Amino acid sequence: MQKLANDAGLPYQTIARKVNRMMAKGKGLLESVRDIAGEHGLKGTKYRIDADKIVRESEKILREDYTQTLMISAVLGQMVEARGRERLPAPAFFAFIEMLSKIPDAPRDTKSETSTEIEDRTTRIIELMTTLVSVLCEWSEKGIVGVDENCPESLRDMAKVVFRKTKLLQGGLWTCISCGNIVNVKETRALMCATCDSSISRSDIHQRFDQMAGRNRTGYGRTTSEENDD
Ligand SMILES: [Zn+2]
Repeated sequence: MQKLANDAGLPYQTIARKVNRMMAKGKGLLESVRDIAGEHGLKGTKYRIDADKIVRESEKILREDYTQTLMISAVLGQMVEARGRERLPAPAFFAFIEMLSKIPDAPRDTKSETSTEIEDRTTRIIELMTTLVSVLCEWSEKGIVGVDENCPESLRDMAKVVFRKTKLLQGGLWTCISCGNIVNVKETRALMCATCDSSISRSDIHQRFDQMAGRNRTGYGRTTSEENDD
């Protein structure tokens, strides 16, 4: 989109708004970008989105530091439950969970990122995940309708999971972020099934997001009785 904005000599925001409007009508991201390029006499096929590159950048961010990744997870978890403008689309959140399950445990470093740094990384992850699902999946005005035909082979499994979980959610079912069981969305508590929720102390946001995508981080020595010291 930035490249298109530069080439068309338009502000990035103008392009972004246009793309958003087209996507709301069920057009794919790349398709929208290429249509706009055509309107400005530019060659549409010049504009590509490399899904593998998005995955690599996301992995790099999520591997940087354990606490940072946990904070990002917590923010995204809250955003997917939020209403209105702050809301993160569920497919982007599902893609994020898939990303988390792909990466090995991030190191615990001694340097603590500033809140601005974490905020920047969070914003970037949101951009990356939103873009990723828009290229991996096929969209219509009803939302995701399948796996995009141009989805790279290496990311087809991820696309299928995002599609399946989104479809379930449309049918009122939620996939627990901890155990993966499918439950009625009305019975979930903070994105978990009732069983997982009751086994975790309500206030411990770290522990809650440690469980994301069924990751078991007990190797870090966290227990339910441990003081929340971060
Ligand atoms: Zn569960």
